[in-house]
Amino acid sequence: MTMKQEVLDIIREQIRKLKTIENGFYAQRFADIDPDAIRTQEDFENLPFTDKGNLRDAYPLGLAAVPEEEIVRIHSSSGTTGTPVIIPYTRKDVDDWAEMFKRCYEIAGITPKDRVHITPGYGLWTAGIGFQAGAERLGAMVIPMGPGNTDKQIRFMQDMGSTVLCATSSYALLLAEEIEKRGVINKLKLKKGVIGSERWGEKMRKRIAGELGVSLYDIYGLTEIYGPGIGISCDADKGMHVFDDFLYFEVIDPKTGKNVPDGEIGELVITTLRKEGAPLIRYRTHDLTRILTGECPCGCKYPRIEAILGRTDDMVKVKGVNIFPGQIDELLHEVEGVSSEYQVMIDHFDGKDRITLFFETEMPAEERKALGTAVQAHFKARIGVTVVPKPVSIGELPRSEKKSQRIFDNRY
Ligand code: ZN
Repeated sequence: MTMKQEVLDIIREQIRKLKTIENGFYAQRFADIDPDAIRTQEDFENLPFTDKGNLRDAYPLGLAAVPEEEIVRIHSSSGTTGTPVIIPYTRKDVDDWAEMFKRCYEIAGITPKDRVHITPGYGLWTAGIGFQAGAERLGAMVIPMGPGNTDKQIRFMQDMGSTVLCATSSYALLLAEEIEKRGVINKLKLKKGVIGSERWGEKMRKRIAGELGVSLYDIYGLTEIYGPGIGISCDADKGMHVFDDFLYFEVIDPKTGKNVPDGEIGELVITTLRKEGAPLIRYRTHDLTRILTGECPCGCKYPRIEAILGRTDDMVKVKGVNIFPGQIDELLHEVEGVSSEYQVMIDHFDGKDRITLFFETEMPAEERKALGTAVQAHFKARIGVTVVPKPVSIGELPRSEKKSQRIFDNRY
């Protein structure tokens, strides 16, 4: 994307201000940077990246860029390893986030007449409260369920007449399966699903949409940059609209750190333009996507990125080929009889790398061998490596309310 002059001016001003903060984090990061020397997009693209590790080092409140009395809340990103990251928010940050989230609901065609059933968790992480603040800003009725207790979820959906389900893709799938099992779909009023925080395949999307009878929208976000609600897919279903008046988006080659041309897949990097509590310059999301060019058929003017294709950390190199989950979703989708759930195991066997691909199917046992062969041939044709196919029955692979890991690299 071409950087607008006003965006460059905002960033230059931001760095000038951050350099004066005495708490260490920003002063140290920008010590060698002269804001006046940032004159072009190229200058900007030479600024250092910010990574999660930098934020972790600032624990607990080193990221605060405003005086204590201006901070109204903190959130924390789920650190699977070690020290968490703490993000301080000012009142304006909380407001701006709600405003972006409200736009997301509007892009999805949700109105004040909707009843929004929120299943993502509440607490330190940004999920539930973000969905709630945006829906309240819109004027819809919020049903703040939080995760778990499937019986109660379904009962409230029925009794409260929920029209919008907010969930992670794996929890939406679990609910869809439970609703089908109980045969209560006709008692529900669900129309739309706002599904976030995970990369998910076309096939899984079709299953959830089909079983619940709803239109689905991908919501995007991360705690370090407000939280979910900084982008969403629309009815044209051609990528996700993102809010370039609040954030600046780049896509880089994760290996070299250089920006890639629009349309090419790489790692999403985000710079905040209005954030006060913890502004971030060139934050590496580790999410794989690409910038989509041209106008969206839906008419919405906000720019678009592709739905997240995977994580740079999930990208594995096997036999010299880069493989990431988004590709596997796509290719399994193209084979008749293969369901949406799969797992990939990579190990070193007999002196060679071996990829074992487990996938779910409804086909009877006697037809699975042929199906496996078809999947193997398709994988080879699309990605160029040979896998060991392992068809299993529906429900055999793990489901979770949290993020599902699909590629397990057991080589090291
Ligand atoms: Zn659109």
